[in-house]
Amino acid sequence: MAFDNARIAIVGGGLGGMAFANAALHVGLTNIDLYEQAAQFTEVGAGVNISRNANRILDAFGLKDSMLWKSSRNPPCYMEYRQYKTGEYLGQIDEFGQPASRQIHRAHLLDVLKERIPEPILHTGKKLVSLEYTGSEYQLTFDDNSVATATIVIGCDGIKSVVRRHLGITDSPIYSGQVVYRGYVQYGDLSPEAAEIFRKTVVYRGHRKHILTLPIGNDESKTAQIGVIGFMSEPISDWKSESWMATAPIDELQEHCSDWAGPIQELIQGLRKSAPDGRMLKQALYVRAPVDTWFHVEESNHSHGIVLVGDSVHSTLPHQGQGTCMAIESGITLATILKRWRAGDDLNAAFQLYQDIRKPRTDKVTQTSYEAGLLASADLPEGFTENFKPELLKERMKWIMEADILEELYQRGAPYFEPKSSDSDASSGPVQANL
Ligand SMILES: Cc1cc2nc3c(=O)[nH]c(=O)nc-3n(C[C@H](O)[C@H](O)[C@H](O)COP(=O)(O)OP(=O)(O)OC[C@H]3O[C@@H](n4cnc5c(N)ncnc54)[C@H](O)[C@@H]3O)c2cc1C
Repeated sequence: MAFDNARIAIVGGGLGGMAFANAALHVGLTNIDLYEQAAQFTEVGAGVNISRNANRILDAFGLKDSMLWKSSRNPPCYMEYRQYKTGEYLGQIDEFGQPASRQIHRAHLLDVLKERIPEPILHTGKKLVSLEYTGSEYQLTFDDNSVATATIVIGCDGIKSVVRRHLGITDSPIYSGQVVYRGYVQYGDLSPEAAEIFRKTVVYRGHRKHILTLPIGNDESKTAQIGVIGFMSEPISDWKSESWMATAPIDELQEHCSDWAGPIQELIQGLRKSAPDGRMLKQALYVRAPVDTWFHVEESNHSHGIVLVGDSVHSTLPHQGQGTCMAIESGITLATILKRWRAGDDLNAAFQLYQDIRKPRTDKVTQTSYEAGLLASADLPEGFTENFKPELLKERMKWIMEADILEELYQRGAPYFEPKSSDSDASSGPVQANL
């Protein structure tokens, strides 16, 4: 198989890079190394929702038990909507089927993704500063002056990707018009009535603002808490930090929500109890338009190339909770193609198949996530509840949740893939097999 023994360098050890490393090991690509710029593998934020489409893949990796140990378990609905001021219940989206969505602390998800990756593969404190092709391999130089080599480089280095620039993409991210305030609240810091509300994923819809809460973790593993994500429209001229990620006084969120319903006021008090310094994370949300270039292959050697996975190529606004899920889907797609490719040794064709399978879906997620953001934060201050129909939102998202990526990959890849011994057995798809 053409790329079976390729020396693969993964740049970036966030959720996307870790998901790709899992996929690579799952399919049997073992010559991999992962380089992360931070001194430790860390994730900040306020929890993450991993939906059915991605959980199917994590379960195929054998990570179901670890996920369920630290994530929510079968929450009563996918999402509930409430009016920001009165707290009135506006409706809900039911779950899309099994495996149900799981809400989990970002650091716990990273731990789950890390648990099966052999330590020697993981390198921290490695910030990529230059990437050059020497004529026989790629040379990756890091900010500690160390150097690594590879024949395939996978850019999992996020929305500000350095690797992306090596594909000649020169666009700049665009400010979305919203910032997010992120923090955690303990159930014990709320009244029983408010705590009950936040045992579900809830959106309080306001005027060009909304607060999303995630019931992350569970009581058995003592990981249950509420992830709070407040999406607030703010002019970029108000942004004071050089970075997109900063902290801000909780008072700022309070100001945005001063006339919001009682449970939101409790939530803000709860944020204060969890943050003795009175501050919470604040992030400016940026977007990039979908691009047509996902990879580059060396003219002098068609089995050497660079390709992107995750936010580096298909970043999306978080309004459908799909950025990490798309990275998980893209990771297994690319890893499988590299492992099972039998149609020659030209990466152009292999990477093109990866892009052809993934781009239509990720482009559509990017577009519909933008639209979902408009629906989540109502445009009209009053009277916007009548036209709001959660059942239509469910219809809008069905195509995301119901897709069986592993099955699609199996179908689309069949003409190009090395048959595996179980291919003749129609009952065994790639979900069960170690591809
Ligand atoms: C408010 C919010 C809520 C969200 N909620 C959800 C959700 O519920 N569900 C969901 O699926 N998605 C969600 N997302 C999206 C999700 O967070 C991202 O899509 C996902 O984290 C992308 O992972 P990534 O690994 O591609 O990029 P990143 O998370 O950005 O990771 C990139 C990694 O590369 C490293 N790196 C960068 N440059 C270099 C370099 N030069 N050298 C070495 N390492 C480098 C970084 O340190 C980092 O570890 C949300 C996003 C936001 C902002």
